[in-house]
Amino acid sequence: MMKKTIIKITLVKVLLLLTFLSSIFNASADVDGVRVWQSPTHTRLVFDLSKPHQHKIFTLANPYRLVIDLGGNAKFKPNVDKVELASTLVTGLRTGRQKNKDLRLVFQLRDDINPKSSIFAPNKIYPHHRLVVDLIEKNVRSLRPVKTVKTVADHVAHNKRDIIVAIDAGHGGEDPGAIGYRRTKEKKVVLKIAKELARLLKAEPGYKPYLTRTGDYYVPLRDRTRKAREANADLFISIHADAFKNSKAHGSSVFVLSERGASSEESRYLAEKENEADLVGGVSLDDKDDHVAMTLLDLSMTATRGSSLAAGKSILGRMGKISRLHKKRVEEAAFMVLKAPDIPALLIETGFISNPGEAKKLATSSYQKKMAREIFKGLTQYFYKEAPEGSYIAWKKNGGKTTIAAAKKATRYTIRRGDTLSHIAQRYKVSVGDIRRLNGIKNNSIQVGQSIKLPAS
Ligand SMILES: [Zn+2]
Repeated sequence: MMKKTIIKITLVKVLLLLTFLSSIFNASADVDGVRVWQSPTHTRLVFDLSKPHQHKIFTLANPYRLVIDLGGNAKFKPNVDKVELASTLVTGLRTGRQKNKDLRLVFQLRDDINPKSSIFAPNKIYPHHRLVVDLIEKNVRSLRPVKTVKTVADHVAHNKRDIIVAIDAGHGGEDPGAIGYRRTKEKKVVLKIAKELARLLKAEPGYKPYLTRTGDYYVPLRDRTRKAREANADLFISIHADAFKNSKAHGSSVFVLSERGASSEESRYLAEKENEADLVGGVSLDDKDDHVAMTLLDLSMTATRGSSLAAGKSILGRMGKISRLHKKRVEEAAFMVLKAPDIPALLIETGFISNPGEAKKLATSSYQKKMAREIFKGLTQYFYKEAPEGSYIAWKKNGGKTTIAAAKKATRYTIRRGDTLSHIAQRYKVSVGDIRRLNGIKNNSIQVGQSIKLPAS
């Protein structure tokens, strides 16, 4: 009798152990959450998975559909009717089970797309494995390149071109940025400040703002500077409101790119966190730029450093009027988003969202407007001092007369070995943007022996 009981208990234990083990090995790979982000060029679907698993993706036509099959007996846990699809490419979502027990998700689409997917490991913001599927619209209309702001003739012939400021609201979409006091999200705060700054610049004669993102979607770090370059920006400003491990940290700061290292422990910490944004935002790293090309571009960046520092100083001075400054001088760190060759680039921390007092202020529209206004003032003061040749501001500064240099006919220059656009620009005291505009050069590729026009010497 005794013996039997012991055997029974052991059996039960073994059975329990087996159930436990099988639950580990066969735990269904569930979809715990789903998010849909719409950008002007693509739609991003994000699935939170309880564990990484096999998936199959394909498209169907008439009507356009995207089908995702998930193996491992996956269950779809979110409420299908509550998935936020308004103003996205997706018009409907159905779930079903295949004969082989695969979970099938069918997304009904407005247009034809090419899907691209990747799996992301958990991180501090997202504890789940994530399956990210980008739906790239095949329709050319939505893939149009960044609008070039004015024609070459407008810029050069009139010598009164607008100064173009690329405003980059950090993070967005799947990447919330820092989450602060009372769940204040950095991505929301910085977009509001960016839009207000754009509004002020638009109203100011001689300026043209260009926003790298206009809504709640993620833009990869490299794309932000690429967009700025395509818009022929004279300056690139990335706006942030980050968190620091110490909630007492407060005050605003301005950063320029440093290749050698960060100027303080905080700046190193912030740059490390910022550079992870592509992982949080869901951008596959196999899209990384060619290393050789990047090294070449990095070499030419030193030329814009002086302008970055001067613009940064001017803005920092203005921001100091409404908030305590975290550091009294422009700081340096290796922010990837600042690697904008040939364009002076700044990263502005409007405050620490991890600081309760500062988060409260940053969340109010009045403070966001005040912050935008001071950045605007610092910016316009800098550009008045350093008015780019041929700009409306330079013309105005000269009492409404075209400067002698700008009036001179364009001269020609033949590219020699070792030349970069920024070195030529520096040597002839013209802006790289003007050289590009005048010659219709879209990137930085120039060839030995190539003859280019120079705006003025
Ligand atoms: Zn940030």
